[in-house]
Amino acid sequence: MGGMRLPKAVTNLMEQLEKLPGIGPKTAQRLVFYLLHNPQSELDAYAKAFSQLKQGTVICSRCRNVGEAEPCAICTDKSRDQTIICVVEQPLDVLALERSGGYHGLYHVLHGAIAPLNNIGPDQLFIQELLPRLAGGTITEIILATNPTMEGEATAMYIAKLVEENQIKGIRLTRIGRGLPVGGDLEYADEVTLAKALEGRREL
Ligand SMILES: [Zn+2]
Repeated sequence: MGGMRLPKAVTNLMEQLEKLPGIGPKTAQRLVFYLLHNPQSELDAYAKAFSQLKQGTVICSRCRNVGEAEPCAICTDKSRDQTIICVVEQPLDVLALERSGGYHGLYHVLHGAIAPLNNIGPDQLFIQELLPRLAGGTITEIILATNPTMEGEATAMYIAKLVEENQIKGIRLTRIGRGLPVGGDLEYADEVTLAKALEGRREL
C-alpha cells in the first residue's frame, strides 16, 4: 500500500458518506467502491434523488410532519378525529402509527427528543408550536407517544408540565407505553404492539 493514494473523487465521497449516521470509515469505503461498479446513469439517479430531497418535501406548518403539501394530507383529512393530537418524536413514528391502524386523530411531530447530553433542548424541537394548536378548545386529548427511552420520557414530562403551566384546561394528557419495549424506538415496534400500546394508554 506504501505510496498508494486514492483518487480525490473517491476520498471526497467517502468523507461525505461518513457524515451520515451509522456510517463509519470502513462502511464508507465499501459503499464508495460498490458505487464505482454502478453505471453512470445509476449514479446520476442517486445524485438527483439527493438534490431533490428538500425541494420535494415540506414541513407542515400545523403538525410539522414531513409531507408533499402544506398543510399535509393528514391535517386536511376531515374524516380524522380533530379532537386528539398524538405527539411523536419523528415522522417515521407517524408512519408506524398509521400502519398500526389503531389511530385516526391528528399528530404533532417534535423532530427529536430533549437530550441534554447531545445539547438538544426544548427550543431545538417543535414543542412551543404545540401550544397554539390547543388554544381553540377543540383538542380534548394529547397522547404523548415519544419513545420509551430516558429522553422520550423526559420530553413527555416536559410537555405535560408546559400544558399545565399554560393553564390549558379540559385536555386529557395520556402516555402510551404498555407493551412497548423499554428503551426502544416507536418506529421499530410492530403494528399489533403499537395498536395495543395506544389502546392501553394511561393518564398522566
Ligand atoms: Zn400536518
